[in-house]
Amino acid sequence: MVGATVSRVSPNVNCLEGKRCPKCGSYGPFEIVVSMRVLLHDNGTDNVDDGISEYGDDARTTCHSCRHEGQFGDFGE
Ligand SMILES: [Zn+2]
Repeated sequence: MVGATVSRVSPNVNCLEGKRCPKCGSYGPFEIVVSMRVLLHDNGTDNVDDGISEYGDDARTTCHSCRHEGQFGDFGE
């Protein structure tokens, strides 16, 4: 650890790598409106957790910290 310089490095290395709120600078989490692919049977879906969520840079995104809204693509460093 190098003290003050650590906070300047994004802790995100996976889904949110390179992502940061353009208003408050939060590294997340962010609420993202996703479209989801699920296996739909006549009696409903088996398990939504098995679905595949899809989102792109145009996905509506809300910062969990300051409630700033924008597109996912606008959230960057
Ligand atoms: Zn924010």
